[in-house]
Amino acid sequence: MKIVSACLAGIKCRYDGRAKTSQKVVQLVKDGDAIPVCPEQLGGLTTPRIAAEARGEKVFTRKGEDITYKFEDGAKEALRIALLANCKEAILKSKSPSCGCGKIYDGSFTGKLISWDGVFCKMLKEEGISVSTEEDI
Ligand code: SF4
Repeated sequence: MKIVSACLAGIKCRYDGRAKTSQKVVQLVKDGDAIPVCPEQLGGLTTPRIAAEARGEKVFTRKGEDITYKFEDGAKEALRIALLANCKEAILKSKSPSCGCGKIYDGSFTGKLISWDGVFCKMLKEEGISVSTEEDI
């Protein structure tokens, strides 16, 4: 079983109220091989919501509000689902401050990337769950 970013499965849960559908991920869910989760919604954030980016261990909105605790709360809940379902792999949305794997936006809201993991990705890796993105499949 895989845990996947809900926006890749066609769920309109992104900050802009849209999805980022990957037909491969949709098919995994349809086949019963993957469970979609959105850690930001699980953290109590609304959809749509103000854009946010990570700066080190913290996450800030475009207006400068520190919303790290919401990202951490949501990632913990999403991780709980992954562990309940005994997921060994994850396919997450690239570059997101929650789901990004290996490279994410740098916190300047200018489209620049840095080498870092999103909050949820990092927690999955710490549990030994292997993480890839829609760009890898
Ligand atoms: Fe998609 Fe993850 Fe962002 Fe939710 S938190 S919209 S699942 S990238």
